[in-house]
Amino acid sequence: MNKIVLRNGFVYKKEGIVKADLLISEGKLFLQFSKMDEEGAIVYNMDGKLIVPGFVDVHVHLREPGFSYKETIKSGTRAAAHGGYTAVCAMPNLNPPPSTIENLTLEMDKIHEDACIAVYPYGSLTKNQSGRGELSDIAELAPYVIGFTDDGKG
Ligand SMILES: [Zn+2]
Repeated sequence: MNKIVLRNGFVYKKEGIVKADLLISEGKLFLQFSKMDEEGAIVYNMDGKLIVPGFVDVHVHLREPGFSYKETIKSGTRAAAHGGYTAVCAMPNLNPPPSTIENLTLEMDKIHEDACIAVYPYGSLTKNQSGRGELSDIAELAPYVIGFTDDGKG
């Protein structure tokens, strides 16, 4: 596996932002390392750049299944990744809405097939995602969704 050194970046840490070099080696990040550790590494000059953990967007519309003419899981997650997002929570404005395990499975299959970052789907609150009428299969869906919403109608 390649080693990467990010030189002179502003590294975001929970204690604050520090100017530092960062070594990425074997899937791990190192803020303290020796000249020997970075031997053979690809070095990037990060002067003036901020190095942060991946972002999370808790309200995205990936529109599949049902509205792929607006957005797809593939295009939406690639756009998110390009902007530094490593996880998104997908709203339930879908056709069919994720109100049953069968409907959620359609969405999850597409997520597993096409997503390039982590996607946590919401379940819809109501069967037809209208904010009225019969509740979704909340108990069955709960282990598989990040939460429940009818996106402004609940
Ligand atoms: Zn929305």
